[in-house]
Amino acid sequence: MLSIEEALAAILEPVAPLEAERAPLDEAAGRVAASDAAAAVDLPPFDRSAMDGYALRSADTAPGVALRLAGGVAAGEVASSELEPGTVVAISTGAALPPGADAILQSELASVGDGTVTPQRAIEPGRHVRFRGEDVHAGDVLARAGERLTLPRLSALASAGVGEVAVHRRPRLHLLVTGSELLPLGAPPEPGRIHESNGLMVTLLAERAGASLARSEVVPDDRAATLAAVERGLAADVLVVSGGVSVGPHDHVKPAFEACGVEEVLWRVRIKPGKPMWAGRRGSTLVFGLPGNPLSSIVCFCVFIEPALRRLQGERDARPRLVRGRIAAPAEASDGRTTFLTAAIAAAEDGVLEATPTERQGSHMTGALGESDGFAIAPHGAPALRAGDPVDLLLLG
Ligand code: AMP
Ligand code: MG
Repeated sequence: MLSIEEALAAILEPVAPLEAERAPLDEAAGRVAASDAAAAVDLPPFDRSAMDGYALRSADTAPGVALRLAGGVAAGEVASSELEPGTVVAISTGAALPPGADAILQSELASVGDGTVTPQRAIEPGRHVRFRGEDVHAGDVLARAGERLTLPRLSALASAGVGEVAVHRRPRLHLLVTGSELLPLGAPPEPGRIHESNGLMVTLLAERAGASLARSEVVPDDRAATLAAVERGLAADVLVVSGGVSVGPHDHVKPAFEACGVEEVLWRVRIKPGKPMWAGRRGSTLVFGLPGNPLSSIVCFCVFIEPALRRLQGERDARPRLVRGRIAAPAEASDGRTTFLTAAIAAAEDGVLEATPTERQGSHMTGALGESDGFAIAPHGAPALRAGDPVDLLLLG
């Protein structure tokens, strides 16, 4: 049986970023730049005042010497003529310096008389001026190809006159939830049937990972229905099937994959919960079979599918997003598989994230999941974790 690392490597190895498209900055947020994005203008784009006050020639200033007030310039305006020696122009924060001015006298240091402004002290050149290009020059690269467009980068691009950027297309994901026992969210209970939750979980996790949901459908455990749904789903970039990947008489997913020409990449991983995880491909479509137990589905999505979705969007280092913390109670891997334990996770007094495993553990324990903030990971082949040991955490938040 493959380890998690081997399985992830096999899944990611052939995955290339999807083609690029241009997107306005708001739609590009959180996605990966497909080419370098450069500033369209200098920043600041012109010499600007950092203060409300008076633009002047610094050489004219001496304590107590009055200067003549010759108009004003507000943010968004430009002075129509050069500032004459011996004069000042009232200026607001962010307004362009009139030609000839080289400093700002802030209002607080000015005595204003009848048509005159008198500085309380000499003003040095450049005082309270934000100079053109002191931050960025037009053409400077603000986001490199392969980098995620984070909030700071988007802020820089927006300021620098960039309205849209090239990003990798979002993967379209088709979700197929299998199981004749499944009731829709909130439906009245029926004998022998359970409320299904994987559809909601996978949808939320897929959207969080940047995928767009092409379609989500629930299919009964029926051979023909499963086959037809799998064939429909293969039109997407990623097909995720929940449930039915085992080998029981009512598990039609693997035969449907085979009949549709989906090539198996792996089946079964040394992970708990989630051992029956299946992955394959047809052409460029990535295909995943998630074990139906809700916790298995969530864990396998986060560990295997989310990285694949991020790689499709151009992220180079698409490993599962784990954070480091410590475990508050002893824990160990079971059945020789890396074990994900539902755990309450919170910052301890020293600021370190501390994970306390829930009392109930099991791939069907959605109630215990509800008491948790994510999973603490006990790796297989490593010594059991003692209370206080460092541990990797998968936060669900
Ligand atoms: P399967 O992988 O189809 O054999 O399902 C394994 C277990 O998970 C069974 O107990 C199913 O009833 C349950 N299960 C399957 N699909 C879902 C779902 N969408 N939501 C909640 N439980 C499910
Ligand atoms: Mg099933």
